[in-house]
Amino acid sequence: MKFYIVSKLDDVSVKISNELRTKLINGGAIEDEVSPNIVVSIGGDGTMLRAVHEYIEKVDDVCFVGLHTGTLGFYTNYTLDDVDLLCDNLLNKNPSIDEYSLIEVRYNNKTQLALNEIRVENNYHTQEIDIYLNEQYLQTFKGNGICLATAIGSTGYNRSLKGPIIHPSLDVMIMSEIAAIHHRYFSTLSSPLVMGRNTIFKMVIKPSKHILLGIDHEIYDDLELTEIECKLSDKKFKMLNYNEFSYVQRLRKAFLEKD
Ligand code: NAP
Repeated sequence: MKFYIVSKLDDVSVKISNELRTKLINGGAIEDEVSPNIVVSIGGDGTMLRAVHEYIEKVDDVCFVGLHTGTLGFYTNYTLDDVDLLCDNLLNKNPSIDEYSLIEVRYNNKTQLALNEIRVENNYHTQEIDIYLNEQYLQTFKGNGICLATAIGSTGYNRSLKGPIIHPSLDVMIMSEIAAIHHRYFSTLSSPLVMGRNTIFKMVIKPSKHILLGIDHEIYDDLELTEIECKLSDKKFKMLNYNEFSYVQRLRKAFLEKD
């Protein structure tokens, strides 16, 4: 097994990373930063996002697993107390592999992948965006922006926008409006829209200052953005599954249970 650990930089995460690294190497695993087959993220869901983007060029060849140094997350199945369990699983058990959809984003002759979401935002000026599905005009949006999330990202920014939580096994993307303008002369769909694999989602963006493109944690605020096309990618994000925690348990832990 060739592994690499991507860690948050706080003391606890670094300590856990060092502990796990030593245990894995003593157990016969090889640390390989360039071409690992397993990447372990130690920190939070945000750390997993950064780990995935670090290896985005090889996302088809790498499996990810996450240990949360806070509570459980949606990309993290293990907590601080589970270092030995995670190590034992990695060295000795055969996991199943869960695959999750990514969004392919094309703009300005560039192509990028999003794990949680892509968003076009403007917090200074009313932003106009024409939206097309498979080249058919849907609507003109006016407001702060548009968020297009994956199913596994639906518990992130999308949820704060009152978008639906979508089971991550579903191969869909969700459009949510950010602070849409509505009055009796102008309105938009208002409801989040869930779209399947055969959808090409296009945004034609009215030129304005201060437009920001967000792809997961990465923010671009200096682009000349006129058009963005998004669709579900053929590439998948793969997570090792040792049956430690179900999605329902993660939902409960994140949003329902009080300490
Ligand atoms: P970040 O600090 O890395 O993450 C912000 C928060 O979102 C953290 O609490 C993180 O959990 C949580 N998170 C990330 N992905 C999630 C997911 N799929 N389901 C549930 N929670 C998730 O912030 P960032 O670098 O600005 O952006 C990274 C992501 O954070 C974005 O992709 C976006 O989804 C989310 N975000 C949400 C809002 C909002 O809800 N208003 C605003 C900005 C960003 P951990 O504490 O476990 O890392």
